[in-house]
Order: sequence, then C-alpha cells, then structure tokens
Amino acid sequence: MQLNTAFQDPQLCRGLLQRLERALDGRSMRFMEVCGTHTVAIFQSGLRSLLPASVTHLSGPGCPVCVTHDAEVAAFLDLAGRDRVIVATFGDLLRVPGPGGRSLKHAQAQGARVEIVYSPLDALSLAAANPNDTVVFLGIGFETTAPTVAATLLTARRRKIENFCVLSLHKLVPPALRALLDDASCAVEAFLLPGHVSTILGLQPYGFLASEYHVPGVVGGFEPADILLALCLMAEQLRDKAPAVVNAYPRAVDDTGNPKARALLEQFFQPADALWRGLGRIPQSGLALRPEYADLDAMARLDLRLPEVASLPGCRCGDVLKGRIAPPACPLFGKKCTPATPVGPCMVSTEGSCAAYFKYSEH
Ligand code: SF4
Repeated sequence: MQLNTAFQDPQLCRGLLQRLERALDGRSMRFMEVCGTHTVAIFQSGLRSLLPASVTHLSGPGCPVCVTHDAEVAAFLDLAGRDRVIVATFGDLLRVPGPGGRSLKHAQAQGARVEIVYSPLDALSLAAANPNDTVVFLGIGFETTAPTVAATLLTARRRKIENFCVLSLHKLVPPALRALLDDASCAVEAFLLPGHVSTILGLQPYGFLASEYHVPGVVGGFEPADILLALCLMAEQLRDKAPAVVNAYPRAVDDTGNPKARALLEQFFQPADALWRGLGRIPQSGLALRPEYADLDAMARLDLRLPEVASLPGCRCGDVLKGRIAPPACPLFGKKCTPATPVGPCMVSTEGSCAAYFKYSEH
C-alpha cells in the first residue's frame, strides 16, 4: 500500500470518525482551514458529508488568489498597460477581477503582454529571451511559494539578468490568523493549520493561538485520515480545555520548519503591511523586497502604487474569507457568479471556497 493510500483507508477513517464523535460527546465545534488545498481536499474526499452534524467547517483566507486585493489587481493592470513591460504570472491570476470587473485577461485580449508561467524561473527565462523589455513576475502566495521567488532573485543576481523584477505581494499566514481572532465577530473555535506553509514555518509562529487566544491549532495533511486526525486533536483539546499548537502531519512537516528556506526569505524580503481582500490592511502580514534589492523590486523600479479602489459590487468574498457566511449565502452564488462567469476571486480560483461549493455540493 502506498503511503498516501494508507491515509485514505476507509477502516482507519471510520475509527477516526468514532474517535471524533467520542471527543465531541454531543458538543459542537466550528473549525476553520486556512489552506486552499484543504478546502478542496475536504470537499473532494466527501469528508464534509461524513462529519458529525455538530461540526461546522469554515474556509478561511488560505487561497492566495482569493485574498489578492482589488488594489493589487489594479496594480497588475497598471503594469500591463505600460510600454516595454511583460507581465509574467501564474495562470490562475489571469481572470481575477479588479476595479470595474476588469482582469489581466481583458488586458491581454486588448494587446497587453501578459505571459503565463509555471514557475518564477520561467519568468526569468522570459527576461533572458527579451533583453529589451522589463519582465515583472507577479509574486503572490504565502510562505510556501515565497522561497522559490527568493531563489529566483538569487539566480537573477548570479546570472546578471537585469531586466527582471518582482511585484512582491506575498502574504504571511500567522498575522492573518491573529487579525481574524481580533475581530469580535470571529466564530472560529479551532484552526486546521496549513500543511504546506508549515513545512517552512514549523510550529513556533502559531504559538500565540493557544497562548494568547486559547484556540487550538493543528497542522494537518491532506488525505482524509490526516484531516480527521487533526479534527480529533482539536475536539480533544477543546474537551479538555487544553488548547495547544501541535503537528499532526509529521511525515511532511518538521516542528522546526525549514530554516534554510526561511534564511533565503530573510535575505531578500522583510515584513510589511499588506492588503488582504476582505480583511483589509493587516500590519506586517506581507513580504516586501529589502531596500538593498530595489532594482529587483517592481514597486521601486517602476514607481508603482496600490491605488484606492472600490470593492466589487455585490461580491461577498470578504465575508466568505472571514468565515462569516458560506458561499451559497452570497446572493450572486450560482446565479450571476459561476466558475464560467466568476464575479469574485473565490469563484475564479480552483482552490476558492465558492468554486469548491459550486463544484462539490448541492445548490
Ligand atoms: Fe464573490 Fe461569487 Fe463567491 Fe459571491 S459567489 S462571494 S460574488 S465569488
């Protein structure tokens, strides 16, 4: 039996479901996952329909495309409108709507040079192949993807490719969790912490969840048994009134994370305030290029600003990302807003909770 298949074993999952029911002992539990891969895994595996009715699953701000702010999309469009600039981006950003519903896809259709790449290194190759243009890589994502961008910046320096820079809009998970908990309306009782991000961070950066907010945090993997084990640990901590931050995904996550990747991040980036869709400006929740790398920083090099913009009318992605409503409570869900005609980013991204609800649940 392959390793991951072992964590899909129905008998193992049945046992964990029974353990979860015992730990709950009739109580309810509202947990939030903050990873787009968890969102999809929970729907795709059918786990949602197996969980006890007293368990409420909330999707948080864990999909990088979904949390990209309207003002950031406006900056993408600003770049796409400039002469001798090639915008290099992952494909899932292409359809994210910004001010007036306009996206990079619209700009591309009108002749802007917007190229889809599969890695930051592809964007660097694009720069090497177009020496008379400036290639800007759109750096979005969390602690998991930012080290690969830092490694690309290092390569750009070593190969002396000078027509390459990054618009760094990377975001950090722990400050977003703190912002959620600081909101008086927050109904989250426990967090399923992101497996991928935690391979870089380890456990320490989440410690405040238990020590300051008395909320359990469990790092979980992505197979059904991984998720169920994490839910059991949350329910047991709540039952025992003993909140803690623990690692239930030790086959991938070391408790100390990946110090080498963090050192690379620290070499190029420093924490900065960041705009999150739905959550607004969160102090020190983003990564900006350090001043000594201004030539690699699209903001400094191209004198780029994030403008004040109006939110998308009618879209309730902000409430979805804070766990205040489930996607079907948005009046546009499944009507004006579908994966084929997305109004908001939570329906654009395959990891968005609106798209997951649309694809996997009855509506
Ligand atoms: Fe936004 Fe569409 Fe989700 Fe409504 S259904 S919150 S419009 S993405």
